[in-house]
Amino acid sequence: MFELPEYTILARQMNEALAGKTVQRGTLGNSPHKFVWYNRKPGEFEKLTRGKRVGAARVRGRWLTLDLDPGYRLLLGECGGRVLYHAPDAILPLKYHLLITFTDGSALSVMTTMWGAMELYETGRELERQYIKDMRVTPVDSEFTFKYFSTLIDELLQGEKRSVKSLLTQDQLIPGLGNAIAQDIMFNARLHPRRTLADLTPGQRRDLFAAIRDTVRDVTGQGGRNDEYNLFGKPGGYARIMDSNAAGKPCPECGHSVEKMQYLGGACYFCPKCQV
Ligand SMILES: [Zn+2]
Repeated sequence: MFELPEYTILARQMNEALAGKTVQRGTLGNSPHKFVWYNRKPGEFEKLTRGKRVGAARVRGRWLTLDLDPGYRLLLGECGGRVLYHAPDAILPLKYHLLITFTDGSALSVMTTMWGAMELYETGRELERQYIKDMRVTPVDSEFTFKYFSTLIDELLQGEKRSVKSLLTQDQLIPGLGNAIAQDIMFNARLHPRRTLADLTPGQRRDLFAAIRDTVRDVTGQGGRNDEYNLFGKPGGYARIMDSNAAGKPCPECGHSVEKMQYLGGACYFCPKCQV
């Protein structure tokens, strides 16, 4: 699944490769998938997108918008899989959940693996959508400061007991993060996934804040994770530290064997010696 860094790369590449193109035909999926969320019927989508000009792509958390001017915005959210640009005359995929062809012969296709939103809104109306409306500050926003982060933790301490993994992956508390990047953030902060927020020392709060900010920056700087593909079908350059390949192998810091456990709806990979 794409997380904030991968969406950031996709948006950047869309701004380079798609801006200014004119939609010839917008087609919703020919490959049925019950977890793909559409808000338009295929005919309606085609009619509303025809002749529109591609404007800016933007990202908030795990949601990407692409302006289709005048008046509309394509929304892709919580997707994994492939979001691909096809140069003029390239062979287009046979199966897709979304395909937009442009008048110059190029195209954009989307094929998600698990689920995802592919919706079309009148410009600005997407802000009223669930998960986008009231979205909290994301790690790349200028408001994401240590003061903000510490206040967020203080606020969460008033509610149900939460762990570090819960903070990073549940309820969009820090939008844009997911189970993949969370593993490396927890390793970089030297915190165990089950460590409760109430037990964090002031120094550990700082370490966790810095690990979130720096890991997102690092993954983005390397073009996204190497197990996801960018708009041009190329994998990113960031190799995860803590993933299924690391399980059972020595921790890069201390040499202790990396462990795997199921916790909060996904596998965790961690070093039991370094991450406490
Ligand atoms: Zn270790």
